[in-house]
Amino acid sequence: MLIFKRIKDLKSFLKKVKSTNKQIGFVPTMGALHQGHMSLIQTCNEKSDFSVCSIFVNPTQFNQTADLDKYPRTLEADTKLLIENKCDVLFVPSVEEMYPEGQKSRIKVDLAGLDKILEAAHRPGHFEGVVQVVDLLLKAVEPDKLFLGQKDFQQVKVIQKLVEQYHPQVEIISCPTQRSEKGLALSSRNARLSTDEKETALVLSKSLQQIKKAIKEGDTAEQALEKARKNFDLPHVKLEYLELRAAHDLAPINEEEANKNWVALCAAWVGEIRLIDNVLI
Ligand code: AMP
Repeated sequence: MLIFKRIKDLKSFLKKVKSTNKQIGFVPTMGALHQGHMSLIQTCNEKSDFSVCSIFVNPTQFNQTADLDKYPRTLEADTKLLIENKCDVLFVPSVEEMYPEGQKSRIKVDLAGLDKILEAAHRPGHFEGVVQVVDLLLKAVEPDKLFLGQKDFQQVKVIQKLVEQYHPQVEIISCPTQRSEKGLALSSRNARLSTDEKETALVLSKSLQQIKKAIKEGDTAEQALEKARKNFDLPHVKLEYLELRAAHDLAPINEEEANKNWVALCAAWVGEIRLIDNVLI
């Protein structure tokens, strides 16, 4: 695996790869890599000829400095995992390399309301930072395919808007959420949970599964949500949202629809860690 720190060097190397007609697949990450990320690398290797992974803890998408400061950084272990999973290129830019002209966002994307709901309502400026960094990364890599995790469901929708408006040649491939044996969605932030907190954190995936079952068995959306919200009445747990939305565009659901193509999404704090999860209904 080759490692690049500079956009210029990465670009000139990838130019040679592209000249041999190889399809480039790209997996952007913030590092502290786990099997969720590796599933993306594996799918990327299956569906493209050449895999590029980036590790960049993007300061502009953190709305809390403490979260940015405490974000796990494990570059050595990450590099090993990527080599084991046959990643071809790792791109690890510095903040100065990504933002030579400062961190103020210059790109404007019409997010069609995605910037007002769910994650956006609780993390002001978060998606603005995501759009800003993914745009710069796509300009650096110019991939054919972009691999994203369904774990960050709203993020996939936001990046779809960016790609439609600024990078229409890129195909987005959304990959299923990888979980622990007990159902906890894998996340870099899980490394900061104690053993007890990991057990407690199962309330997210269990509640989402409970909603799915309740809807299938004939509960209305409100009934299903109300029951599941009660699960979060636990010490050291704070529910931020638990909602059902249309899977297509995260619009409010219409109960009359015969085809319940919905997604249940939640965010909750377990101790000092904010976790998110979602399940398709
Ligand atoms: P992150 O490093 O958290 O920014 O994530 C990088 C990419 O990995 C994003 O597209 C995430 O959605 C994806 N990802 C994170 N966790 C998982 C998971 N448990 N299963 C599948 N994809 C994931």
